[in-house]
Amino acid sequence: MTDEVANNLHGVLSHLPEGVKLVAISKFHPAEKITSAYNEGQRVFGESHEQEIARKVEVLPNDIEWHFIGHLQTNKVKYIAPYISMIESADSLKLIKEINKQAIKNNRVIDILLELHIAEEATKYGFSLDDVRSLLSSGTLKEMTGVRVRGLMMMASNIDDKSQIAKEFDVANEFFKELKRDYFMAEDYFDCRSWGMSHDYDIAVEHGSNMVRVGTAIFGEREY
Ligand SMILES: *Cc1c(COP(=O)(O)O)cnc(C)c1O
Repeated sequence: MTDEVANNLHGVLSHLPEGVKLVAISKFHPAEKITSAYNEGQRVFGESHEQEIARKVEVLPNDIEWHFIGHLQTNKVKYIAPYISMIESADSLKLIKEINKQAIKNNRVIDILLELHIAEEATKYGFSLDDVRSLLSSGTLKEMTGVRVRGLMMMASNIDDKSQIAKEFDVANEFFKELKRDYFMAEDYFDCRSWGMSHDYDIAVEHGSNMVRVGTAIFGEREY
């Protein structure tokens, strides 16, 4: 098992161009598998449930950079605020306000990504492009001293049609450029384009991604 994770990890890394950050998505996998990847040098891991990440943080090395990638309920923010490196799934103003509040309580600035809803699938989560435009033009986010908007996160439709997947990544990439130009020209930290998962990260890096979130291709199938 250990060797398998190590081999898979190196396989994924070998496909990533320089400058693309790998977030190893370890949700539903045991801490031992994370340790296997850690021992190969991987330091960035992503989880989607507050209780599961809390358990893992307790037993794993403290130089791991943890990303939260799942839908986060506002009442759970306080549990992860002390240690989370990045919340990639910021999907409502209400949630961002709570992240800001808890970050300030912890004397921290928490990095967030705005999660976009571009895919054709009916999901409840994520901002529309217009939502993001009005949020940023309102100035509300820049007043929040506890959060730093680092960029965008999105998931493409879960389909086989590669051209459609590529099209959705392009929408995100163009939107990133628009936001950079209109709102973050002077902010070097606005630089994260998080798209691409196990089945489509190769397409994602060809379409602007510089942060891929890969689980299954490293750790194997999840057992829910
Ligand atoms: C689970 C998950 C991933 C990883 O998916 P794989 O197909 O296992 O690579 C990436 N992003 C998000 C938001 C997820 O929930």
